[in-house]
Parts: sequence; structure tokens; C-alpha cells
Amino acid sequence: MAEAKYISNDKLTAWLDELAGKMRVIAPTRQGDAVVFAPYASGQSVELAQEATAPPKSVVFPASEDLLRYDYRKNPENLGQVDVELLPTISPEPTLVFGSRPCGVRGFLIFDRVYDGATYKDPYYLARREATLFATIACGQAENACFCHSVGSAPGDATGSDLLLTPIADGFVVEAVSDKGAQCLESSLLEAAGGKADEAKAFREKALQEMGEPQDFGPAQQKLLELFDDMGFWEDVSAKCISCGACTYLCPTCYCFNITDENAGLTGRRVRSWDNCMSFQFTLEASGHNPRPTKAHRLKNRVGHKFSYYPNLHDGIIACCGCGRCIKSCPVSVDIREIVTKAMAHQPPAVEEAAK
Ligand code: SF4
Ligand code: SF4
Repeated sequence: MAEAKYISNDKLTAWLDELAGKMRVIAPTRQGDAVVFAPYASGQSVELAQEATAPPKSVVFPASEDLLRYDYRKNPENLGQVDVELLPTISPEPTLVFGSRPCGVRGFLIFDRVYDGATYKDPYYLARREATLFATIACGQAENACFCHSVGSAPGDATGSDLLLTPIADGFVVEAVSDKGAQCLESSLLEAAGGKADEAKAFREKALQEMGEPQDFGPAQQKLLELFDDMGFWEDVSAKCISCGACTYLCPTCYCFNITDENAGLTGRRVRSWDNCMSFQFTLEASGHNPRPTKAHRLKNRVGHKFSYYPNLHDGIIACCGCGRCIKSCPVSVDIREIVTKAMAHQPPAVEEAAK
């Protein structure tokens, strides 16, 4: 792999401009109180100090996208015959996501097992995934909602990234993680990192060390199954939830969607949009029956999916990257760590107690 490079803060904009000349660059920018990923415009300042409010999920999996568009054409020779023309919708643009944190990229590894699985491959997702590079910034100080080190990651985790940038005094050490990432280092604005690479390694180790001991969520896989029918437990932990859905929309690993068809005369489109399992409508059936009728059922599913059902299907991998966005953004402070911890510690009532 290419040798580590260094770029000083005063050359960062010029490097981004260079990269933006070769591909679309998406970078974190401030919008009011929020930091969001948006197309980079030449010379623009990027917000790298604060973790983005939303992860870069929508770059590869848009909040709403056309799966297909179609035109109906009546055959003028035979008015009883209608031809349907399908119009192409997959046209991914080479893209660099600059400035995500490791957890935001790790979310795509959870997606990959579903949309690039053995039995199903999603062409829309895969086309964008293939066209997208990630230049990730190592975190120096975990926020109090962060727990990436408890779900198999770390503040300096480069898994899934193409470049890893580690902030050191007055600039960044930039290391290629993939061959595509190495091509981004071909710039006269970058210089050999030399001894600064050791400084960067020490920075990442310190950040991990300061997070303290990781919590072992492994036992949750079985424990959440045992608690499946204990609705008293789920009613208790979901009591304050207001079913707003912020936790799902901001989650880097939530991949559920809904599909709707929209017609306008002889043209139409099939649209895929993010869906939200915390909403009553998510499982509402046409008959009116709802298998998850209460918020207790829905929170049970969300937590169970991430810490038990997904790991059961995917080699024990927890479908949560520990970013803490659901914790920070929940208006009533529902904390998924607390729920899983409580579930792991939960003891079923003694037989005589249960019989009362
Ligand atoms: S469940 Fe919460 S902490 Fe885990 S990845 Fe989703 S938003 Fe982040
Ligand atoms: S963000 Fe909080 S209140 Fe909103 S649905 Fe999620 S857990 Fe419930």
C-alpha cells in the first residue's frame, strides 16, 4: 500500500478542489445547528471538528429514489395494444465521501450483508456502492453517547474506508486503505508523512484507550430471544418513546424501505423511500391487522433486530455501529445501550411470583 502522506490544514481546501475536479465530493457542512453531508463546492469550508448529525447513508442509499420509470404508448395501428417502455434509472456518479467518521462508514458493512448477500443483490445499491469512495477521519475524543468499541469498531477504525485521515498538529496524516484510495494521494499538495505516521497511530490508540473498557453485548443475542414474549419488560423500556422515528432515520445501519407507484397519465415511476419500523404503519396490513400494534412491540423489534436477529443471521455481527446518533437525537432520551444492558441483566420472575 502507498506510504502515509501528510497534508497541512492550509492546503486541505486546495486538495479538496483537486479531488472535486475528478469526481463528485460530498463533505460535511454546517446547516444551523446540524452538520450534514452535502455536495462540496470549490473553496467551501467543511465541518470536520464535529461528527455529522446524520451519517452519509443517503449517498449510497438515498432517502427516496426511482427504481424504475415507465411510459405507456398505445400502438396507433392497434389501439388495443399498449407498449411499456422502461426508462433507465441507475446512473451512479463517481463520488468521494470526505470527512465521515468510522461509524458512518461501518454502517455500509451492515448494509452489504443484506443488499450484496448470497441470495439477493440490489443493483441500485451496488452501483452506488461501487462508485463511492470514503475518506474517513479518525475520532480523537469519543462523545458520551459513543460506544463503537463495544460493537467491534474503534475511533480509528479504517474498515470499509478507502482513506484514513488522522488529525495531528496543523494537519492530517493520510493513509490509503484501498487501491482506489491510494490514487487520491497522487497530488503534489501532500508530502511524505515520515515520523508523523507514528504520531497518528499514537493519536488513534489514545482515543481508543480513553473510551475505557468495551461492554460485551454478545449475550444479548440469546437474551433478547428469551425476552421476546415478556411484554412487561418492553412496555417498561418503551414507556417514554413518542414514536417519532428520529432514531431510525439517523441510524447508519437502518436499511428498511417502502415502495410506492406513482402514475401521471401515461407515465409513472416506482419509488423506493426509507421506512421507519418505529411507526405504527410500518407493519399495518391491508386487513387492518397489525402484528406490532404498540410501541413496545416496535421497540422490541428495533432492538432485537440489531442485537439478536441480525447477528443470528450474520455470523454474530451486531447491526449497530455504536455511533450514538439514536441516543443523541431521541427527544425523550431513549438509550439503546441501557435497554440492551437491562435485557442482559433481566431475570425472569421466580415461579411463585409469576403465578401471582
Ligand atoms: S442503533 Fe443507534 S447507536 Fe446503533 S448504529 Fe443506529 S443510531 Fe447508531
Ligand atoms: S427517537 Fe426516541 S422517541 Fe423517537 S421513535 Fe426513536 S426511541 Fe422513540
